Amino acid sequence: MAARSLFRTVSGLLRAAGRSCSSGGPVTLPRRGEPALPEAQALSPARRREFLRDHAAPFSAFLTDTFGRRHNYLRISLTEKCNLRCQYCMPEEGVPLTPKADLLTTKEILILSQLFVKEGVDKIRLTGGEPLIRPDVLDIVGQLHQLDGLKSIAITTNGINLARLLPQLQRAGLSGINISLDTLVPAKFEFITRRKGFHKVMEGIHKAIELGFYPVKVNCVVMRGFNEDELLDFVALSEGLPLDVRFIEYMPFDGNKWNFKKMVSYKEMLDMIHQRWPELEKLPEEACSTSKAFKVPGSRGQISFITSMSEHFCGDCNRLRITADGNLKVCLFGNSEVSLRDHLRSGASEEELLNIIGAAVGRKKKQHAGMFNIAQMKNRPMILIGG
Ligand code: SAM
Ligand code: SF4
Repeated sequence: MAARSLFRTVSGLLRAAGRSCSSGGPVTLPRRGEPALPEAQALSPARRREFLRDHAAPFSAFLTDTFGRRHNYLRISLTEKCNLRCQYCMPEEGVPLTPKADLLTTKEILILSQLFVKEGVDKIRLTGGEPLIRPDVLDIVGQLHQLDGLKSIAITTNGINLARLLPQLQRAGLSGINISLDTLVPAKFEFITRRKGFHKVMEGIHKAIELGFYPVKVNCVVMRGFNEDELLDFVALSEGLPLDVRFIEYMPFDGNKWNFKKMVSYKEMLDMIHQRWPELEKLPEEACSTSKAFKVPGSRGQISFITSMSEHFCGDCNRLRITADGNLKVCLFGNSEVSLRDHLRSGASEEELLNIIGAAVGRKKKQHAGMFNIAQMKNRPMILIGG
């Protein structure tokens, strides 16, 4: 079974279109002067493996899917718990939490991270739930920082505990930060998050700037009737501060009462911003970036759009996710999961784990099912998936 999936992965590699998001990794396609792909595809499975060994570059076959996408970016959810209750993320009644014994331990997170990094993952993002309420978060960042080959450790946080923890997180090796903030009006903050805390989040944003994180990314989920009237205020904020304000299209997840009419599309947002700033400049697209970036000339910061719904970026997807209870998810909007925790706890060897990971990556679909289908699908709520 594992061998079959490896072959699938290998043939995917051979079909690979050459698009790669792995930072700095050598290309998988044959290099100049090497046998052409059609010739290679005619090879028997055994010869294909030999071909790959001899000609292909060393990005992991286990982390490369059948469409040639190389997964060098791992997002790990540290917890399902959260100190806010954002209306678009978790149902009002909350979500049933996994018993503590079933969550990944610090050591298990490290073992899995090490395995992925050895295979070519060079960016890890810690998310949740709210990652900064996990008591061992500093320890986890510090130990990840020791992993050879890991170039970036980032966190996505709601910012409530950020100002207090950020200096220590930075010393431990944190290199990137995304802070979620959907409104600049304290009363609206309290409405959407069902909690107080606006000023703490702002304090966190200023602390991140003060400590030199650049750019400090601010995630803003845009919802019609709630905050689309604040788009221009957020853009103005990016004029004066070194922020990347990322406008995220509202996405459907179980229990979040998503409705197409509440979603403000990228095009609509851009139109509104253009009317106020016709001189808005499009910035060059970075490889594998999920966002489209723009800048008001002369600004200290920039803005971006995460167009997961209106213009998906599945073709460039380089992400894998591990949920807080140790399931590998190859797509945020897919419901297939495999428990790495169970295999780890039953003593699976590194090779066995890699075969399981390779099989899951091999099953990754070309693209998500489209916003209307996703809205009908059974999937975990966002808070259980981990951003
Ligand atoms: N608690 C942390 C936070 O809020 O930043 C990390 C986890 S949260 C699930 C990760 C990101 O997902 C946040 O930026 C949040 O705004 C975004 N998010 C949650 N639900 C969403 C939805 N339905 N549509 C779009 N983005 C969503
Ligand atoms: Fe918590 Fe983040 Fe979800 Fe808001 S978006 S409820 S802060 S996990």
